[in-house]
Amino acid sequence: MSNHLPSSLLETNPSDFPGLDVYAVAGNPIAHSKSPVIHERFAQQTSQAMHYGRLQPALDGFAQTARAFFAAGGKGMNVTVPFKLDAKALADVVTPRAQLAGAVNTLWHADGRIYGDNTDGAGLVRDLHAQGITLAGQSICLLGAGGAARGVLGPLLHEKPRSIVIANRSIDKAQALQALFESLAKECGVQLSVCPIDALGSDDAPIDLIINATAAGLGADSPVSDAVAKRLFKPSAFAYDMVYGKITGMMQQAIHHGCRVSDGLGMLVEQAADAFLVWRGAELGKALDARAVLADLRRELTA
Ligand code: NDP
Repeated sequence: MSNHLPSSLLETNPSDFPGLDVYAVAGNPIAHSKSPVIHERFAQQTSQAMHYGRLQPALDGFAQTARAFFAAGGKGMNVTVPFKLDAKALADVVTPRAQLAGAVNTLWHADGRIYGDNTDGAGLVRDLHAQGITLAGQSICLLGAGGAARGVLGPLLHEKPRSIVIANRSIDKAQALQALFESLAKECGVQLSVCPIDALGSDDAPIDLIINATAAGLGADSPVSDAVAKRLFKPSAFAYDMVYGKITGMMQQAIHHGCRVSDGLGMLVEQAADAFLVWRGAELGKALDARAVLADLRRELTA
């Protein structure tokens, strides 16, 4: 390998896989990523000759690694924490939904240009639908106002719920998101508001779906206090935490109050399915079974 290639490319160098289309997920850290397993299963299901590996660029080295990967023949890349903004900056062409999300999680190389998309929001919506959750006409509470919340707001609004309230620890960030999505909300006929987390549930208007897009679940915390949980989680509600592979603090509160709950593993698999079809062609959707991959992954995580 020549010296000008970044060391992260040693992990997945497209030149090492002649005759195969090569893809990778880039993040830092990346060893824990389930994406290679998921895409390997999609490739088997749809009979695609491809290799999917990992890349761990230096924290300030995403653009160098991505450019080297594509220059070496790489076809596409998924992008995770903390590089989704770097990926948007790198892309020559960004899809409208990625523009709205303010971040890119899927890159590909075509006609000498790098394209960027964001499939996170579509993944969440598909997972909710697959779990029998209707979004049209419902009232939704979105906890968090960071990158994940921004990424899913557009696709959620397009589902035309009755209302979405954004609740965040720092209310100014929730207000900034509201301002960004105000015109789309109007276009979709959705009442979009913000609320301090501690005031949630105090107006007696029941919430049908609570989505935790905060990073609180990565630790043992819930973003809502037990007092708020008592008001917020009605037995008819569904509580979804984007963190996956564990029963988070918020999920425990919701279960305690009789709600159905879900972690974010299905979102992870569905956003990957969307990226796979963007790269390999929507017609493969008929052969691709994301729910079977999700079931296998769930079995492995609970074994
Ligand atoms: P950001 O760092 O951009 O945002 C973090 C958000 O969490 C902010 O709103 C922050 O509030 C809030 N927050 C952090 N800690 C706490 C806490 N202890 N109590 C209350 N609020 C808290 O992160 P992202 O938006 O990128 O990611 C959020 C989560 O979504 C992560 O856990 C990530 O793993 C998950 N995710 C899952 C995906 C999937 O496929 N399942 C896809 C994408 C993300 P404040 O503004 O006040 O700091």
